[in-house]
Amino acid sequence: MVMPWQPDRLPAAIAGLRAYDPGHDLVAWRRRFPDALVELGSNETAIGPSPQALAAARAALAQAFRYPDPLAGDLRRALAARQGVSPAQVVPGNGSHELLMQLVQAFVPAGAPLVYSQYGFAVFPIAAAAVGARAVCVPALPDDHPDAPCGHDLEALAAACDGDTRLLFLANPNNPTGTWFAREALATLLRQVPASTLVVVDEAYGEFLPGGDAGSALGLLSTHPNLVVTRTFSKAYALAGLRVGYAIGHPGAMAVLERLRESFNVNNVALAAAEAALADGAHLRRVLAHTESERARMAAGLRALGLRVWPSSTNFLLAGFGTAEYCAQVEARLRGHAVIVRPMGGYGLPHTLRISIGSVAENDRLLQVMERIL
Ligand code: PMP
Repeated sequence: MVMPWQPDRLPAAIAGLRAYDPGHDLVAWRRRFPDALVELGSNETAIGPSPQALAAARAALAQAFRYPDPLAGDLRRALAARQGVSPAQVVPGNGSHELLMQLVQAFVPAGAPLVYSQYGFAVFPIAAAAVGARAVCVPALPDDHPDAPCGHDLEALAAACDGDTRLLFLANPNNPTGTWFAREALATLLRQVPASTLVVVDEAYGEFLPGGDAGSALGLLSTHPNLVVTRTFSKAYALAGLRVGYAIGHPGAMAVLERLRESFNVNNVALAAAEAALADGAHLRRVLAHTESERARMAAGLRALGLRVWPSSTNFLLAGFGTAEYCAQVEARLRGHAVIVRPMGGYGLPHTLRISIGSVAENDRLLQVMERIL
């Protein structure tokens, strides 16, 4: 009997696709360690969302019987005003993951080249595979690079793009390496890459860039119409559970992306919370200050235990344990002590663990358990 899900019945791109690996079954781990689980595996912001965002979300809940604004107009206008662009340059997403997938769907035909870096964000190859694009994975900077070990090699990435390349993905800062590049380096790359290539800079962690907005690709939008920047409310705005992201680019590119946006893709509670979070600059500054000081403390603590810690301008650290076997043992023992971190085998970095910056208490616990295990 021929079944619809047989690989030879599927579109070729889908037959070759692997599902996104979410890491651990966190709900099961929460049941196993009620109230005690330390969750440092998903790069969330443990100090929580803005109280104003929570209040706005609660108020919006009463309107949950209505469809949300299909245009997401208020959020679009607020984001446009904040980033100094027009509302027609903003497309909201149900998280930025959705937008990364749709950008590829919109701009890359099957068989056409799409370029990204080794150790780049996991969604880039998935998005490429989903449309049957020809994925061109460019080797990362060497492991002993002084500024950005295993980071993006912008010169090599630019050189990999030619007139056929439809899309180049960059993540700044990058997950999982935590590495970043300066806006000037991006400006150089944009001069080298053909204008016909869409350059998508994933700034999910953009608020954590050194210099903040001054380090962001957003400042290059007006001079580079082939640039698109994606951002999210999941990280610095601490709203990961509500799923809100956005893309900013040329109105021409955004109008094409808009064709794929599902009606009502951002729900009304999420819209209200995101708008309020955006207006609460004081809370964002608190998150950034907490992240910076705790990141420095965690990095020092882990290095004092003899671990290699990558430089990071994000809300997580990449820590190296020498060998994949030892690393897997440490990760399993951390879990046994109710501490969740993210193994990086899927990224080709099986000797490393990615550790999110949690609350002070969570970070203390991680360091204590790590010391005991090591
Ligand atoms: N880009 C990067 C680099 C990420 O790490 C993540 C989340 N892990 C995303 C995009 C997607 O985030 P979201 O869908 O929550 O906006």
